[in-house]
Amino acid sequence: MTVTFNDVLRAQRRLAAHLPPTPLWAYRQLDPDVLVKHENTQPTGAFKARGALTLLDRMSADERARGVVTYSTGNHAQAIAYAAAAFDTRCVVVMPEKANPFKAQAARALGATVVLEGADLAGSGAHAAALAEADGLRLVSPGDEPDILAGVGTLYQEVFAAAPDLDAVVVPIGSGTGAAAACVVRAALAPRCEVIGVQSSASPAGHDSWRAGSCVTRPDTTAVEGLATGRGFDLPQRHLRGALNDFLLVDDADIARAQRLLATHAHTLAEGAGATALAAVLTHPDRFAGRKIAVICTGGNAGPQELRNLSA
Ligand SMILES: *Cc1c(COP(=O)(O)O)cnc(C)c1O
Repeated sequence: MTVTFNDVLRAQRRLAAHLPPTPLWAYRQLDPDVLVKHENTQPTGAFKARGALTLLDRMSADERARGVVTYSTGNHAQAIAYAAAAFDTRCVVVMPEKANPFKAQAARALGATVVLEGADLAGSGAHAAALAEADGLRLVSPGDEPDILAGVGTLYQEVFAAAPDLDAVVVPIGSGTGAAAACVVRAALAPRCEVIGVQSSASPAGHDSWRAGSCVTRPDTTAVEGLATGRGFDLPQRHLRGALNDFLLVDDADIARAQRLLATHAHTLAEGAGATALAAVLTHPDRFAGRKIAVICTGGNAGPQELRNLSA
């Protein structure tokens, strides 16, 4: 099962009715060679709306009538809740007990039933699977869904259409759907552009899975939601293998610094995951010097602690 550029183009045609393209800006004070792709401006505050709407759009009427259940640290939950509401579908989301309360509240406001269960994402996933079994709901994985990957690919179609001469696109990685989709679209539209993944060194499961060539589980202690998965996901990892050009790690402190820079130099409230690509560029200056790059600001749903840290 692989996702192709044609799947992305089909998703793009379907998504046009739901989501306008997001801006891609350079900021003189930040770095004129760095373009920021503003997925923080999506209606749910993160790029995941693209994949979720595509998934719901592709479900049969029967499947939609039964409803969906998913698990998430927050943004995937909000995206599925948003898409389920758009398609008039019942939605249950399971979040870890210590989930960002803003994100739980946002999913509720979108009409989802929110269940706080599990010490981490794995615990929430087990509970979601049990609910799917008991209630006949469609279990939606945060990572292993071809329609989500195809929908997310529309982000990269927009990037390469607006900036066909990029040397590198830098993508934060949690489950890896974003980076996998970037590789699919890059191969079709900008074969000489590098796709570079970034993860927090405190939750390196995606990085270590890519380096090992098979999915592994790893300690998962980053405070950066969206990158905190603890395990590799099979579908995105298969797309990343042999396609991703490099995979960098950054510290949570570097991410917080990039978050502050986006606020002061780019008029942008990013959550940690949304600042992670910029953090990689700032902490690896030699790797990116003199090159035209795009960093994906994947989301803006900063939690209460992140907002306090902005002024620290
Ligand atoms: C989910 C998420 C990521 C990670 O994306 P994957 O496709 O899971 O690798 C990065 N940033 C934000 C804001 C997210 O919500």
